[in-house]
Amino acid sequence: MFDKILIANRGEIAVRIIRACREMGIQSVAVYSEIDKDALHTQLADEAVCIGPAQARDSYLDMKRIISAASVTGATAIHPGFGFLSENSKFAKALEECHITFIGPTSEMIDKMGNKAEARRSMIEAGIPVVPGSEGKVSSVEQAKEIANKIGYPVIVKASAGGGGRGMRIVMHSDEFESQFSTAQMEAKNAFGDNSMYVEKYIQNPKHIEFQILADHHGHVVHLGERDCSLQRRHQKVIEEAPSKAITKKLRQKMGETAIKAAKAIEYRNAGTVEFLLDKDQQFYFIEMNTRIQVEHPVTEMVTGIDLIKEQIKIASGKPLFLKQSDIEISGHAIECRINAENPSKGFAPSPGTIEQLHIPGGNGIRVDSAMYQGYTIPPTYDSMIAKLIVYDKDRKSAIGKMKSAIGELIIQGIDTNIDFQYDLLNHKAFIEGRYDTSFIESFLNNQLKA
Ligand code: ADP
Repeated sequence: MFDKILIANRGEIAVRIIRACREMGIQSVAVYSEIDKDALHTQLADEAVCIGPAQARDSYLDMKRIISAASVTGATAIHPGFGFLSENSKFAKALEECHITFIGPTSEMIDKMGNKAEARRSMIEAGIPVVPGSEGKVSSVEQAKEIANKIGYPVIVKASAGGGGRGMRIVMHSDEFESQFSTAQMEAKNAFGDNSMYVEKYIQNPKHIEFQILADHHGHVVHLGERDCSLQRRHQKVIEEAPSKAITKKLRQKMGETAIKAAKAIEYRNAGTVEFLLDKDQQFYFIEMNTRIQVEHPVTEMVTGIDLIKEQIKIASGKPLFLKQSDIEISGHAIECRINAENPSKGFAPSPGTIEQLHIPGGNGIRVDSAMYQGYTIPPTYDSMIAKLIVYDKDRKSAIGKMKSAIGELIIQGIDTNIDFQYDLLNHKAFIEGRYDTSFIESFLNNQLKA
């Protein structure tokens, strides 16, 4: 087992990983940018190394500085968290070359799945159902349009390098194909430096259902059930829950087996998530695989009792998975609300600033993964997610009741947050009854939902 792990991240996920290390008796090293000198992860880790200025490209995205910090402190493994370098195959490769363990899959696997068009191609080869569309990336707008005309509108054009909901556009009609394609392509070029694109049928009102998998270095793969992440704004998740109300036991088994098959097809290792869209006829389609820990991993931890970060560390150290598929039981219900520093009434504009007053809810089955504390100043430089409020109870109804109670108790003053917005979503009859899909939030914001 590793003696010392460096965490190449910040915010709540860095804190989450530091805690896991501490519980396992592993020393932790934080890296931080100048603006994060008072951040919680900087303070909580056993050691902390400043790696540069606030701009992520000069600190949290600077591989050389991070690798230097690991060698100076004697850390033998790096956990990348999510975002930043977590899905950067060059980083994984650089660590492989420096004999530092990357807590995640190999650079080759990241490459295979990180390019979404390539991932589609591999999954088609492996016999995994994918959304109808181009086989891999398209070579021109003309070819893309030809495919769109063949599969029928609406379609969605997506960036091969895409992530975080960027670089994709829905095209309702062939007239607007060229313009939407070039807008998405431009966005992809700016955001990812890669303008390769692919095309998929746009599935109307689907559920976003993703499966958590764990794979060790000895060919053993298990799934830990699904997360329903259909509550999204601009293709970004807002509330996640496990299990999904839309999934029967039989469908869970089928989708879980498909997720395992997808992982095995690329000889995947460590934690990963296989994302599917589920249509109204209960048909499911692979959309992508995330080769890292996800923001929403706590809901899976709550319903399975398995600590995913610890499993990632154990797997990376070469230990075989002690879990058999038949050992994994899903019980009760968990919900996560992403708490963001943003103002929903101002178009969800980010709201950085100092937290003047803070009260965190507690009690049985309430978990808060956060890096905030009273007096902490949220910098404007990074993501606006400042906390994840997670609840666990015996069933969905009780979990919703518990989340509403916990949200009611949460006080964050000094900045704007989406707490009230989250409460309104949870309070909506359609959500309570489980009648929701990926279009829910947009309809909710446009007052188009029936009570
Ligand atoms: P990203 O990598 O940017 O997160 P994904 O491919 O995972 O992008 O898609 C994000 C979300 O966009 C999905 O959860 C879903 O809501 C929507 N989406 C993506 N592809 C389709 C599709 N073919 N049909 C309908 N919605 C889609």
